[in-house]
Amino acid sequence: MSPITHFLTGWMIANTARLGRRDRILVAGACTLPDADGLGVLADLATEGASRPTEWFGTYHHTFGHNALFALAAAAAVFALANRHRVTAALAFAAVHVHLLEDLAGAKGPDGDAWPIPYLWPFDDSLQWAWSGQWALDAWPNFLITAALLSGTLYVAWRKGHSPVGIVSGSADTALVAALRRRFGEPRAAGTA
Ligand SMILES: [Zn+2]
Repeated sequence: MSPITHFLTGWMIANTARLGRRDRILVAGACTLPDADGLGVLADLATEGASRPTEWFGTYHHTFGHNALFALAAAAAVFALANRHRVTAALAFAAVHVHLLEDLAGAKGPDGDAWPIPYLWPFDDSLQWAWSGQWALDAWPNFLITAALLSGTLYVAWRKGHSPVGIVSGSADTALVAALRRRFGEPRAAGTA
């Protein structure tokens, strides 16, 4: 699935616990970061037509970011960086795995390539996860899932008073939450009936 879908997934996972801003960003980032192994596409595009074009996307996508070792490394990094170490690291570990499941479900390439998941990379390349029911990257279930995640993100913004907009601008985030609450009313404070 697209990095945006993964990011929103991570944001929703982060909001299953009471995490501060920094920890929420760490979990959402962990859910998105596996696709860093696909960033070679930028080099490929830049060198397209050059005498020696790179083929980094085909070589590295679904390798070093899409495996158990990466999930452990991400969890360790998040453990070190987070304020609530354990719960945030556990959610980051889960988030990387949900990313892998999302790719398994709906990341078939335009050429029909399933982009199997090398879960034990780099120790054992023979294990490659794939699912025969996999749909294409641009198929409708991905749009539906992304739309559902966006709705969930807006609901969380209305309910809890924060959205991913706050990562770039606190004042824009406050304005978004205020607009949602004007439209849908104030959420009931926790603990009151
Ligand atoms: Zn991926």
